[in-house]
Amino acid sequence: MSASTEKIRNIGIIAHIDAGKTTTSERILFYTGSSHRMGNVDEGTTITDFDEEEAKRGITIYSAAISCQWKDYSINIIDTPGHVDFTAEVERSLRVLDGAVVVFSAMEGVEAQSETVWRQADKYNVPRICFINKMDRIGASFERTFQEIEKRLIAKPVAMQIPIGEGSTSADDSFQGIIDLIKMQALYYDADSKGSQFEAKEIPESYLERAQEWRGKLLESVAELDDEILEQYYETEEIAEADILRLLRIAALKGDLQPTFCGSALNYIGVQPVLDAVGNYLPSPLDRPPVEGINPQPKKRGGKAGESESRGPSVDEPMCGLVFKIQADKHGDLCFMRVYSGQLKSGSRLLNARTGKKELISQLWRVHADSREKVETDCIDAGDIAGVIGPKEAVTGDTLCDIRHPILLESISFPETVISMA
Ligand code: GDP
Repeated sequence: MSASTEKIRNIGIIAHIDAGKTTTSERILFYTGSSHRMGNVDEGTTITDFDEEEAKRGITIYSAAISCQWKDYSINIIDTPGHVDFTAEVERSLRVLDGAVVVFSAMEGVEAQSETVWRQADKYNVPRICFINKMDRIGASFERTFQEIEKRLIAKPVAMQIPIGEGSTSADDSFQGIIDLIKMQALYYDADSKGSQFEAKEIPESYLERAQEWRGKLLESVAELDDEILEQYYETEEIAEADILRLLRIAALKGDLQPTFCGSALNYIGVQPVLDAVGNYLPSPLDRPPVEGINPQPKKRGGKAGESESRGPSVDEPMCGLVFKIQADKHGDLCFMRVYSGQLKSGSRLLNARTGKKELISQLWRVHADSREKVETDCIDAGDIAGVIGPKEAVTGDTLCDIRHPILLESISFPETVISMA
């Protein structure tokens, strides 16, 4: 599986504990065919929670990356720990990803932990889409949660959908589906098909007014993005679908607003629109600014130690990448690497910018939920993520780079203990 860089999405799914991050991730892996068996968090059989301690405690502690395919997008899901004690690790994973799906519970709404993670994502300028989950639970409220996102997070969510029914108090008003506010269609999910089939119908009479009200808010948010469209909106009270999508995409990529979806991951409802939204509203590696670092090469060797360096997301730039997770494996340690620039090739040697030593890249692997495959081309391009076997001394946080073009990423100041070139 390889995709052009503009079709790659490196995303995280972030949430406070219990909001449904694991369930949402499972459904995504199921729909994208990355996992062929369905996990269940309540039975401790989920795939992302593969660490035993983690499964026992029911929280996601360690980062890992899983690659999957949705339509023509190649999505790498970087697992971000949800527990507030592990903020350093959360920050590291936020650095590696380009965009995030933030899962909220429609029951609990925005909690302290959601605020912490939201602020961290702000710090790293990570564009976001929101998924308001657990619409089926008693006490769930889309509107309350939406307003909390606005007020407590001081964010700019834009509702792309509203729920049909909320909570599960009676059969009549229980959560059954969603209204797509762009197409103005009701989508009912077929439970037997696990939501892979759904029926588009007319919006029920009793929801028409509410749907129009929310669509009005959506159009106002879009109109504010562009003077010409604003003028046209004042006149006609309408905006063409293509303009809505174009302007929303630009604003979402800039982080100016957050397209917001709703559903129930447990009942599969709403997960497919979120997957579409990952392609539509979250950035590709090409949309992200160059990474910054410093030159770690000592002056006495003719280097330019301490000078700032940057690398853009292009295969023509010198190779650099960040090791963001190491997992022990029976074939050797698997280093998960985000390649920021150049090409990562098996058989090559790279500089570890922290140790100053060379590391061998023996094999490249792409990791899926329940399988992994060797990268056939033996090459990973800028913007992509892979598991690497070979490096002996690399640890989490290390930069591996072109020997002739050294760069040390993620370091705030030039470390004193550096660094003799091997
Ligand atoms: P995480 O801690 O954010 O990873 O949350 P989990 O995915 O483990 O979900 C926490 C609990 O909520 C589990 O018991 C799930 O089965 C349940 N859950 C998750 N999503 C939903 C949902 O949409 N509706 C309902 N009723 N329960 C859900």
